[in-house]
Amino acid sequence: MHKLVFKILRYSGLALIFREVFQRRKVTILIMHDMTADAATKAFLFWKQHYNVISLKDYLDARQHKKELPPKSLVLTFDDGHKGNFQLLTLIESFRIPVTIFLCSGIVGTNRHFWFTEKTLNAEKLKYLPDDKRIREMNKNNFFEDKEYPNRQALSAEEIKVLKESPFVELESHTRFHPILTQCSDEKAFKEINDSKKELSEKFDLEITGFAYPNGNYSDREILMVKKNGYEYALTADPGFNTLKTDPYLLKRLSVNDSENFDEIVVKTSGLWGLLKKIFRKDNAYH
Ligand SMILES: [Zn+2]
Repeated sequence: MHKLVFKILRYSGLALIFREVFQRRKVTILIMHDMTADAATKAFLFWKQHYNVISLKDYLDARQHKKELPPKSLVLTFDDGHKGNFQLLTLIESFRIPVTIFLCSGIVGTNRHFWFTEKTLNAEKLKYLPDDKRIREMNKNNFFEDKEYPNRQALSAEEIKVLKESPFVELESHTRFHPILTQCSDEKAFKEINDSKKELSEKFDLEITGFAYPNGNYSDREILMVKKNGYEYALTADPGFNTLKTDPYLLKRLSVNDSENFDEIVVKTSGLWGLLKKIFRKDNAYH
């Protein structure tokens, strides 16, 4: 059913109109999480052919120096720091496609797990709980944030070292353990935002300037904390396009949900899906 909807939207010409008209003078930022190499191969080729893929840094430099950007500028971002991201490095380099990966500093470089991918937990329900209650619920279900599991889900320290050396990869912050910040106490939210930057710099010698709000959730408090902690910009999951004047702490992003379906990638990249979701007020299902 979903597949058919994307096919219709793609071949209706609406996705093409969005791309050629609405996206032409805008900067589109996409969110991926753990895209497979197969899906990425198709997607990278499409993006390379129909957009101008630029790095997040190019966009930020253009803002700062009031430089013009190429038409249909597209920025690719990956959230969380999934180990599968490392499998994309060869593709990223052969396509010469710049990406930015937002890392959870308490999970990368360890065998700790991402709570929202844990099959035994109902992540969608947990997102709506006050943070201390979410932690208690997870513990009751035998999930512990700092438990080292036999298998690894996140990028290893060695992989981060290799990614860091690539001229096509930028690494930034996505908190420590990926709580829903708006459900956290002041202390916890501050610690997650502040310590993540510190940990990434201490553990991996990274210079962190950017932040992505976990699950796209933020309020005035988080914006203020991110600014106070010296981050220069922050990315939301609010669908839409950006200009050189968009608030740097409220940059918009479109989710392509790691799709393997090419029609879906085309439609979601164009912003058409984000607009429909806004109209029908559908909740975010990403992290
Ligand atoms: Zn995330």
